[in-house]
Amino acid sequence: MSRLLEWATKEKNKLFMLLCLAVHVFYVIVFAFFQCWIPCGINLLSVSVYLWLSFFKRPITEGSIIIAYFEINIYSVSCSLFTGGEFGFLFFVVGTLSLIFYLAPSYRRFYWLFHIVGLFSSVFIVTLWWARFTFHPEIYRKLQHYSFTFSILNMFFISLAIFITSYFFMRNMRKTRERLDYNVNHDLLTGLYNRRYVEEYIASHDVNFAIGMLDIDDFKHINDMYGHHLGDVVLKTVCDAFVKNMEEGQIAVRWGGEEFILLFPDYTVPQTQDKINEICRIISSSAINEDGAKIYVTLTAGVCDGNNLNFEEAVRNADNLLYYGKRHGKNQVVAT
Ligand code: GH3
Ligand code: MG
Ligand code: MG
Repeated sequence: MSRLLEWATKEKNKLFMLLCLAVHVFYVIVFAFFQCWIPCGINLLSVSVYLWLSFFKRPITEGSIIIAYFEINIYSVSCSLFTGGEFGFLFFVVGTLSLIFYLAPSYRRFYWLFHIVGLFSSVFIVTLWWARFTFHPEIYRKLQHYSFTFSILNMFFISLAIFITSYFFMRNMRKTRERLDYNVNHDLLTGLYNRRYVEEYIASHDVNFAIGMLDIDDFKHINDMYGHHLGDVVLKTVCDAFVKNMEEGQIAVRWGGEEFILLFPDYTVPQTQDKINEICRIISSSAINEDGAKIYVTLTAGVCDGNNLNFEEAVRNADNLLYYGKRHGKNQVVAT
């Protein structure tokens, strides 16, 4: 079910084409049943257009939607010419006037043109209705008792098309916004939060906190020895270990290349030092096995209190402690 939803969200234009195809197949059968061969033929032509658009012209672009838009106008006008204006083919024209806005956003320069075409078709069909004009009085006579049923059916079809395409359009928008929100707040290689996120978090939360700034030891050497790709694997593995060993509400940030900030709300410095020591021990105690290489990683960290300091000052303090650790042997957690 969820795979079907994903497919429909991604392929809403194709879904629209398939709906149009289904409606025309339905009308081929209906008009054949009433032995109204001209409208039956018009629907067969439309079926071939949608078969071409849906299955042979790949991918389904916004250009395909524009073709469908004109097909709907030509179809509705020509069907109304043969059956009469009162059979509700007008609903198709009016309905697709709005659909074109979000099914073909790249063509917004031409919206005025599409609107004029749609408006012209609508006025034309209403005029046919008002004048009780039909090209083919025999077809009209055969179908006139069913004009109400045709109208209701057509209204139902276009409502269904509007509902389905709008629903999947909105779903697509929501998914895109979620993806954008994620990208704005996360580092895409490691999945950790980024600087922007933690700075905004601190600005909008009044919390006591302690932070640790961590840096992978001799990471340049790992890159030089095993290559950049394995360097990335090491980064990701280290970051996964942070996330796995931190609790909800605690924030792991990729601060720069191989530098990280771990923020612990309501933690004291000793608590933070213990926690980071534990995380670093877990990371350094097992090798990262990748592409036949066995890589051991250690980290150095500086830990300080963030209370009574602004975030920038806390980061600077943690950075100084980190460099103290780097100068004094690495692989250690230095605290104030
Ligand atoms: P130290 O123990 O003093 O921290 O030494 P180091 O080698 O870890 O530090 P240095 O700052 O000299 O090197 C950091 C390296 O991290 C250099 C840079 O190419 C690498 N690096 C930064 N970002 C990435 C990344 O996203 N992927 C990979 N593979 N390497 C990165
Ligand atoms: Mg380093
Ligand atoms: Mg560094």
